[in-house]
Amino acid sequence: MSADSAGYQEFCDEQGLLQRLEELSPRTLVIDIEPLVAYWDGTQDALDRGIARELDLVSAVPSVVVVCFATNSARRPSVQPPSTEVDVVYLAAARKPTRVKPYLSFPRPGAVVGDQVLTDGLLAKRLGYTFLHYHAPLTGAPLRPQLLAVLGRLASRVIFG
Ligand SMILES: [Mg+2]
Repeated sequence: MSADSAGYQEFCDEQGLLQRLEELSPRTLVIDIEPLVAYWDGTQDALDRGIARELDLVSAVPSVVVVCFATNSARRPSVQPPSTEVDVVYLAAARKPTRVKPYLSFPRPGAVVGDQVLTDGLLAKRLGYTFLHYHAPLTGAPLRPQLLAVLGRLASRVIFG
């Protein structure tokens, strides 16, 4: 796959995500927060632990040099996640998929990991990144992400073929 062609793949859990990442070998990963990293109404501690858990998972994929957490919500980790082997960026109020400027300096190829076609998927498309679509269990999710997920399923065939 060329760096500019937007691919689409699905996964259901972190083991599935790891497999996709090992196949794709992206250099940049943009990771949505809710609900893969932390649940919508979760605690600060759950968000901090979720970020540490994802960074640990990504550390098993040697191609990755930039990890950018991006959420449209306003929540932030209690400390800036440390950049060790990879550069770690955290974007709150990221305005996915409208705002693309923060990602333009990241090395390609890249992938956006997230549950929503209309925010994460469209961002991936705009950046020429692969969209790794997380099929999250939506039981107990707030109404807005549930509605967005339904609309996204309808839109995904149009957007990704
Ligand atoms: Mg999400």
